[in-house]
Amino acid sequence: MKQSLSDNFFPTLSLSTPDFRITLNKRGASEYTKISFPLKYGIYSEIETKDAVLQFNLNNEIVRAKGKDKKWIQPSEWLKRSMGNDWIYYSTGGYTGVFEATGEYYLPNLQYPTNSLIGGKPFKEASVARIVSSWHEIIKDVMISVKKDTSKTTNESEKREIFIRFLEKALLNTPERLENKAQNLFEVSDGRITVMPPDARHVDYDIIPLTISEGCLYKCRFCRIKTDKPFSIKSKEKIKEKIEILKKLYGKDIVNYNSIFLGDHDALNAGKETILSAAATAHEAFGFKDAFMKGSSLFMFGSVDSLMEREGTVNDAKALLDDLNRLPFCTYINIGLESSDQETLDFLGKPITSKQVEETFLYIQHINATYPNIEITANFIMDENLPDGHYPAFLNLVREKIARTKTKGTVYLSPLRINKPSREVLFEFNRLKTLSRVPTFLYIIQRL
Ligand code: SF4
Repeated sequence: MKQSLSDNFFPTLSLSTPDFRITLNKRGASEYTKISFPLKYGIYSEIETKDAVLQFNLNNEIVRAKGKDKKWIQPSEWLKRSMGNDWIYYSTGGYTGVFEATGEYYLPNLQYPTNSLIGGKPFKEASVARIVSSWHEIIKDVMISVKKDTSKTTNESEKREIFIRFLEKALLNTPERLENKAQNLFEVSDGRITVMPPDARHVDYDIIPLTISEGCLYKCRFCRIKTDKPFSIKSKEKIKEKIEILKKLYGKDIVNYNSIFLGDHDALNAGKETILSAAATAHEAFGFKDAFMKGSSLFMFGSVDSLMEREGTVNDAKALLDDLNRLPFCTYINIGLESSDQETLDFLGKPITSKQVEETFLYIQHINATYPNIEITANFIMDENLPDGHYPAFLNLVREKIARTKTKGTVYLSPLRINKPSREVLFEFNRLKTLSRVPTFLYIIQRL
């Protein structure tokens, strides 16, 4: 049984002095919303000092932070720490086109190489580096102040004890311990999640990763994340075991989650029975029905063959869709189409035909129009050095083959090169987006 979310379970309490304020169990937003104001989600605790704000999840692990000093880049920007223990800087970009380019008001700036075309280098700023490297010291300083402040009445000293206990637990979650926890997450996921589905942006990438299969069908030449291993499916027992381990890892903070990512690169090919049973078991075990965060989402990757049921695969995707649509999830399936130009597919070393891509794209339109709780999205590649037919073929699909502008069925354009922001590619993106009749955004590769 999930814990009750009543105030008795996570009561909000606060302690203020002229130098700091601690608030336990603050209520943030309980629904993911696209808004230009910096919303914080879930139930969290907060330490605010004269020059920093630190926020902690219900396991007393730091999850967000920002500086309050004059050098902090922008008061509405902040740092988020992922379950994979990466710090991510959320910027407004100083770039007016962030929402148009990504579909989100804040741009995640990452510390590792990625394919982003926009954003700056916030981690090189001293004010940002100070928080990333010294948040643990800030907690220590606050602990010293709380201990010094010896109150006279029993009530006050009992209250002080509650805050000391919180600080003690937060201090136990050292950078090393958080890194170890991330390693445990990678272990249960059979390796790090090197790329999250682009649709996970709808829940600010707050997903619990449940690996139900490994590998993919194609082993495309251009792909950096592929493994040599043949595609394989995890047994029901293995998946149940993973769910139990994940439940323990996410601990008390699981009430702040309501979404899963079925991994890894082609979970759709795992077949109806595996997918439905994994989704239902996870929903029940993680207590999503009673979570603080409302509206469950299910994310996975698929492929042309797993969606179109290539003969000889285990797949039964068409039969799966009716059942998926009835699940207590909004399901997002992201399909890597890459190009509808044969020369480009050959150039990329993707072993499918342009005819298959076109058929799949049209079938995706049908699914999106038929199932209210399912959205199939697609990825296409962008680069300066692709064959000339790539962009005309893309426009033929997203403009000529679609009679009216649509609000569902996002197409993501993914720059091929890592750490090579290019004005030309950004310019091309804006041109394609303007002409496309489906929502069209950049895909910034992000790991968990
Ligand atoms: S692009 Fe997708 S299908 Fe191709 S090798 Fe990479 S993971 Fe596999």
